[in-house]
Amino acid sequence: MKSDQIFESYLTKRSRSLNSKPIKKSGTHYVLCWLQQTLRGVNNPVIDAAIAFSRQLNQPVLIYHGLGQHYPHASDRFHQFILEASKSLEEDAARRGLKVIRFVESQSNPHNGIFYTLAKKASLVVLDDQPAFVGRWHAQSVANKLERRVVAVDGARLIPEIALGSTFSTTPSFRARHTSLRSKWLDEPNNLSNDLMADVDLPDNATPINMLQSNKLGKLISDCDIDHTVPPVQWCSGSRRSAIKHLNWAMVQQFPNYASKRNNPSETGTTYLSPYLHFGVLGPGDVVAAVNESDASSRDSWKFLDELLTWREYFHHRAFNTPDPTSYDNLPTAAKASLSSHSSDSREHLYPLGTLIHGETDDAVWNVGQRQFLRDGWMHNNLRMYWGKRLLAWTKTPQIAWQTACYINDRFSLDGRDPATYGNMQWCFGASKPSKDKPVYGTVPIKSNKALLSKSGMTQWLNDELEKAIPRVAVPQQPTVRSHPKASGSLAAQLALNERNEMRVDKDDTQ
Ligand SMILES: Cc1cc2nc3c(=O)[nH]c(=O)nc-3n(C[C@H](O)[C@H](O)[C@H](O)COP(=O)(O)OP(=O)(O)OC[C@H]3O[C@@H](n4cnc5c(N)ncnc54)[C@H](O)[C@@H]3O)c2cc1C
Repeated sequence: MKSDQIFESYLTKRSRSLNSKPIKKSGTHYVLCWLQQTLRGVNNPVIDAAIAFSRQLNQPVLIYHGLGQHYPHASDRFHQFILEASKSLEEDAARRGLKVIRFVESQSNPHNGIFYTLAKKASLVVLDDQPAFVGRWHAQSVANKLERRVVAVDGARLIPEIALGSTFSTTPSFRARHTSLRSKWLDEPNNLSNDLMADVDLPDNATPINMLQSNKLGKLISDCDIDHTVPPVQWCSGSRRSAIKHLNWAMVQQFPNYASKRNNPSETGTTYLSPYLHFGVLGPGDVVAAVNESDASSRDSWKFLDELLTWREYFHHRAFNTPDPTSYDNLPTAAKASLSSHSSDSREHLYPLGTLIHGETDDAVWNVGQRQFLRDGWMHNNLRMYWGKRLLAWTKTPQIAWQTACYINDRFSLDGRDPATYGNMQWCFGASKPSKDKPVYGTVPIKSNKALLSKSGMTQWLNDELEKAIPRVAVPQQPTVRSHPKASGSLAAQLALNERNEMRVDKDDTQ
């Protein structure tokens, strides 16, 4: 398929203009591709869209990845994973003849505003479309400030919002639509060839970190003004090479019997792919390709793809259609009313935040889940369900329970701050079939630990887990969840502004 056809059939459906400013041809040198969270140099539609634009403009692509010190929950854990991912992004992009500039803001290299300096010489900015966390708010703020076109491209989902074509409020209706579109999107061509190499350096004596040796990463991170009490995890590294190795391991070791093993936390029965998917080191297409090449039974494949494609992409779809996906207000009205009518019920315990964070409550099952977050930056799905619901019984109000749950999940889990975070948290807090009214929970269904404890190997596993060392981390006065007062309207509403011809470079469009 020719690049024009790929652009028309696929990339335009992944893209939306965030402003209606012109594409500036004259006096500019490149198409700037700013990656915040889709950190892979191959199979990346965001880069492909930038290349497609660059061909129309006869300009090279410049890829930029910058890491600030002050994003919410910035810690050694996230910095390490992100910078490992970013290094392999650079290596893979360089093999395609693409120039990447990487910059880390630190105490001895404090420049900020580098992105804006680079953007001044760009005809347009192509960035990755994220429906949650700071990526979403940064993208809109950049589009408002810059005097050139900003186009957001979805590189996180197999099937982007425009292709879905409608809004779905239940998983069965979403699943049916998504399934009907999968074969087309699994055939999406990627890795457009690139002919031109940008020749640019960082402005104002800022030191780039390109090709930084891995053994120097620790020193760089220690120079950043971030939370050093949350350490990097030991079980995974953020590079694409590690991600592919991990994916291959998961397909051989985890996949057989996934459907029957996935609910038992004491078995390594799931794939642990969520950090790689969250940071875009792997795209869903990479994972589906591996599944299709595996020997998995149809039952295991179906169940796994339902999690990866239906549930994961449903929560992206929901976040995309919500002004602020992190907000407690998104809970169903009936659940909020019922929880609120029980707000003054006496609670089983009111644990201080530090006790919760360090997994030191009277509930061993909960503690083990929390310690997985704290130590490994990941928690088993079945434990997460129990973990989220218990917080309602241990905090003063349902709003504080929500804030505590989001705060802990987002601060410690590598896959946190994701559409799946808030979608699943809503399930814990009442976005499901209501149950009989009871203290504290009202009609929000309770999950007991009985079923968890009855799974084979659980008792021994819980004891073993409790023996493992955990880091002691800084504890704030309150759990802080960044709200986004400037968020107005859903991203979907903006699609109405997105005339398809805005994705093409027309004469009238350029200056
Ligand atoms: C309270 C609570 C909080 C959660 N917070 C997050 C979060 O912050 N980030 C996150 O990615 N997931 C979250 N989940 C969903 C799920 O727990 C994780 O995606 C899963 O545990 C990741 O482990 P895995 O990669 O081994 O999953 P696997 O079972 O191997 O599944 C493969 C992939 O499918 C997707 N997936 C699996 N289960 C779900 C699900 N329930 N919802 C959406 N996608 C799913 C994930 O991308 C996952 O990597 C949460 C669930 C609950 C109940």
